[in-house]
Amino acid sequence: MELESIRLRGFRNYAELDAAFVPGVNLVLGDNAQGKTNLLEAVTYLSTGKAFRTRKEQELIQFGADFADLEADVLAKNREKTLRAVLFTGRKPRQLFLNGVKQKNFTTMEGELTTVLFCPEDLLILKSGAERRRRLLDNALCQLRPGYSRALQEYQRLLDHKSRILKDWRDRPSYLDALPDFNLRMAQFGAALIAYRANYLQKLARLTAQYHREFSGDREQLALTYRTVSTVLDPLAARAEIERQILDHQESHLRAEIESGQCLTGPHRDDFEVLCNDLPLKSFGSQGQVRTAAISLKLAEREIFRDDTGEMPVLLLDDVLSELDEGRQDFLLNQLRAGQVFITCCEDRKFTKLGAVLHIAGGALQPE
Ligand code: ATP
Ligand code: MG
Repeated sequence: MELESIRLRGFRNYAELDAAFVPGVNLVLGDNAQGKTNLLEAVTYLSTGKAFRTRKEQELIQFGADFADLEADVLAKNREKTLRAVLFTGRKPRQLFLNGVKQKNFTTMEGELTTVLFCPEDLLILKSGAERRRRLLDNALCQLRPGYSRALQEYQRLLDHKSRILKDWRDRPSYLDALPDFNLRMAQFGAALIAYRANYLQKLARLTAQYHREFSGDREQLALTYRTVSTVLDPLAARAEIERQILDHQESHLRAEIESGQCLTGPHRDDFEVLCNDLPLKSFGSQGQVRTAAISLKLAEREIFRDDTGEMPVLLLDDVLSELDEGRQDFLLNQLRAGQVFITCCEDRKFTKLGAVLHIAGGALQPE
């Protein structure tokens, strides 16, 4: 997968940008607040249909402009494609184009440009609550497995419904009659989610540990362990077995759920634990260790995507090198030899020999 070029009009602080990229490392250099992250944001927008720093699309349009126009040429499996998105101020919906043909929604553009992004907020995946870790799994699996995406939607729908029953049954006791049926279906879809997650995590854990070990010069051992419904003894077991064990858990928690009015059982509470040299990374990891582990997770994700889709996703690394000692910086830079990479940085001392350099200042590409 290769991003050949991008054209931006009225996007963030880019009034007008026309940039061409190289297949290997593209180093995006510039002082603070010049537009480095904005450029990666434009790339991820065309990749995922979403902006990673905001939910408000309007923020992407340059202050004072009426629209933002993003267009990229992508080379994948020897075919060139053009992806384009135009965003408007006010209520007018965005317009999406694939090879000049207007698309109804982003679904048909999904997978045309696959990317793996590391940004500083990703450190929170390992530091904060379970939700971000679940989102990491959900994001990857929704892209790789359509069956997962459908199961997740259905499970979420059932969960919302069951939560309402548990909240409101005191006013309407008859609501409780529907509970066994909801529990059964949640156990079925929940077992599917657990099976997908356990498989993905098995691969992710192995590759992440491998990257982290090399990254730390063999000094650190990283272990990822899936934590799901406590009665599920082996999440890699057959689905029927998992389903039965979820039903056991539901049964033993039924009274507690009815009394507390909350849904206490199921994979919507899943998590994975990360140990670094046998200590929980969340509580004991140093800044450098957490960063090393987070980057290892992303490199592992890139490898799984490559094996699964046959194309190496474009790697986008925002502000990745700070807080890493020289040994770890060298390891990372060595990892960048495969596939296309965009890496932002404020200084160029380490990179001179590495691929192409794009100097960004005030939302414009500076001539060399
Ligand atoms: P750092 O090294 O600090 O991370 P950066 O080069 O990554 O800096 P960006 O986040 O890409 O910086 O750009 C930030 C600049 O873009 C800010 O000065 C911000 O005011 C400007 N900016 C953000 N959104 C818009 C917009 N909609 N219109 C115009 N300018 C914007
Ligand atoms: Mg930035």
